[in-house]
Amino acid sequence: MSTFHVSENGYYGDFGGAYVPEILHANVEALKNAYKLLISDPAFQQEYHALLKDYVGRPSPLYLAKRLSGKYGCKIYLKREDLNHTGAHKINNTVGQILLARRMGKTRIIAETGAGQHGVATATVCALMDMECAVYMGKTDVARQHLNVQKMEMLGAKVIPVTSGNMTLKDATNEAIRDWCCNPSNTHYIIGSTVGPHPYPDMVARFQSVISQEIKVQLLEKEGRDYPDYLIACVGGGSNAAGATYEYLDDPRVKIVLAEAAGKGIDSGESAATIRLGTVGIIHGAKTLLMQTADGQIQEPYSISAGLDYPGIGPMHANMARQGRSEVLAVDDHEALAAALELTRMEGIIPALESAHALGVFGQKKFRPQDLIVLCLSGRGDKDMKTYIEWNDDEKSKH
Ligand SMILES: *Cc1c(COP(=O)(O)O)cnc(C)c1O
Repeated sequence: MSTFHVSENGYYGDFGGAYVPEILHANVEALKNAYKLLISDPAFQQEYHALLKDYVGRPSPLYLAKRLSGKYGCKIYLKREDLNHTGAHKINNTVGQILLARRMGKTRIIAETGAGQHGVATATVCALMDMECAVYMGKTDVARQHLNVQKMEMLGAKVIPVTSGNMTLKDATNEAIRDWCCNPSNTHYIIGSTVGPHPYPDMVARFQSVISQEIKVQLLEKEGRDYPDYLIACVGGGSNAAGATYEYLDDPRVKIVLAEAAGKGIDSGESAATIRLGTVGIIHGAKTLLMQTADGQIQEPYSISAGLDYPGIGPMHANMARQGRSEVLAVDDHEALAAALELTRMEGIIPALESAHALGVFGQKKFRPQDLIVLCLSGRGDKDMKTYIEWNDDEKSKH
C-alpha cells in the first residue's frame, strides 16, 4: 500500500533522510532508536497527555465559523490552536520533545527561532522542566522581535544572536546544529517544525498529530462522521499542517489544501513559495525542496509572516505535493492581511499572520455547499498587531 508516512530508513518518497556531520551520527542514531519506543511507552503518553490537557489547554475547540461559512458557501470549522498556551500549535511539539529529552538523560536544550515563537515555546517548557536553555536567533530577528526576546529571557533562556549570513532563521539553524556538534552528549536540540534530519520530521509530526486525533473525535460528535472533505493549513516548515493531516494522510476521502507564502508575489523574487519555486537540494540535514540559485546558494525567503519565511519545506510536504496528495496554493501578503481582517470582523478572532495565509485559500478556491472543511487556525494574532495596525493605516490613507 502506498503511504505518505515516513519509511523505515527515514524517507518520504525521494525526500528526507539524515544528512548530518559525522560527529552527529551517534546522536541522530540514538534519537532514532529512542523516539518511537519512548513515544509509544504508556507512561510517556500519560505524562504527555496530562500536560497537553492541564498545561497547554487541550483539546483545542473545533469551532463552526457560521458567518465565514455563509460567505463562502460551505461548512467551515476552525481548529483553534490559537487558544493554546503560548498562542500557537508549537507548544504541542516542545512539550513532547522536552519529555523525550529528559528520558534520554539530557540536561541542556538548544533551539533555533525565527520570529521567536518556537523560542518562546521552548523556553517555556525548559522553565517548566528546570532545564538549561539556549536559543539561537538571527541578529536581524532579535531586533525585529524584541518582545519575544524579552519573554525568552524572562523565562530563563539565554538568547544567542547570530551574526552569520543574513542573520535570520536559516543562519540560526546552522548555529544550533554547530552547537549540537560541540555538545552531543548532554544536549538535545528541539527543532521547531517538520524539518531537519530523520527522525525529526516524523517525530515533530507525531507530536503535532494530536491535532488530527482531536479533529476525528470532534467531527464525529458534531457531524456524525470522523473525517472532513477538506483540510486546510498554512505551511512554513509544515508542522501544523502535518499535525492537522496526520490521521488522514492515507485517507483519499480527505483532500489536503496547503497555503504557502507568496510574499510580494510568486514572480517578485520576494516570496517564500518553496513548493512552487523550490528545487531539490539538501538543507539542515534533509533532502527536500528549497529555494536556491542555479549554483546552489540558498535564496533568502520573504514573507510578511515571519513564521513562514523558511527557504525549505519539510520532506513530508515536498513528497505529498510532488505526488499530488496535497494541493498547494500560494497566498501573498495582501491576500493574507485581507483574510486576517475578514476573520476578525466576521468571527471576532484575530488570527496569526501565518494562519491568515490558510484563510486566504477561500479567496482562491471555490467549494461546494455540501463540503465539510476543517481549517487549522495555527495561532493567534497578538504578535502581529504592529503589522496589522500599519496595514490598516495604509489602507485608510489610500481612501
Ligand atoms: C511557526 C508558525 C507557523 C509555521 O510553522 P509550521 O511548522 O509550518 O506549522 C504557522 N503558524 C503559526 C502561528 C506559527 O507560529
